Amino acid sequence: MGKLYVIGIGPGGLEHMTLKAVKAIEESEIIVGYNKYIDYIKPLIESKEVYATGMRGEEDRCREALRLSKDKVVAIISTGDAGIYGMAGLILQLRKDEQVEVIPGITASSAAAAVLGAPLMHDNCNISLSDLMTPYELIKQRVKSAAESDFVISLYNPKSKGRPGYLMECINIIRQFRKGSTPVAVVKNALREGQETKLYTLENFQDSFTDMVSIVIIGNSQSYIKDGIFITPRGYDLKD
Ligand code: SAH
Repeated sequence: MGKLYVIGIGPGGLEHMTLKAVKAIEESEIIVGYNKYIDYIKPLIESKEVYATGMRGEEDRCREALRLSKDKVVAIISTGDAGIYGMAGLILQLRKDEQVEVIPGITASSAAAAVLGAPLMHDNCNISLSDLMTPYELIKQRVKSAAESDFVISLYNPKSKGRPGYLMECINIIRQFRKGSTPVAVVKNALREGQETKLYTLENFQDSFTDMVSIVIIGNSQSYIKDGIFITPRGYDLKD
């Protein structure tokens, strides 16, 4: 009897994977994933059969993983958490009677938050700016609602060549609801090789540093920067 593990490998650095994820990969005979993500776990899979595909082959990749899992132990990997803009949903939608187990990982917003300090300490939400499967009008509506409701906002897939203007348009929507001094942080390659961070305010934010390996975190009305550290207070009544 085979099995399919749907694994979130975390942000990229091996030490940020869960023990459960490492064990599941060790147990798996075949590893399925996007080429670049396979590279992050190379040291763990040297002796294994690997089925690597390009970026847009998601559906084929999932169907193949499910097919292989009928009689082998297979791992399909996503970065971060497999259930957050990863492969878990598609696998479960396509699943018939295959045995599937989803293993969580550290998502990009958590990874970036740890790098920055504590920006997600109060109610927060994730919004992907990718319009491949979500109409842009709906994305903007969600950005507006989140801004209006004072959520800390993490923007996934913030910028790509095909939609260069979306990030600034969304920042402009948020500017209508938050003060100019609100902290905005960009973390590129959080907790993996190539990590870089930039801090802005909503007023002086510009998008030239941001790319597809970045996440953008916009503070709420209470967020502030202290000694270069991004803090969103939880609301404790502090004595001094
Ligand atoms: N399943 C992933 C998200 C995949 S969507 C997760 O849970 O993290 C891809 C987007 O995630 C990228 O465009 C980027 O915005 C963000 N991302 C993923 N890993 C990242 C990292 N290490 N540092 C910064 N952003 C990251």
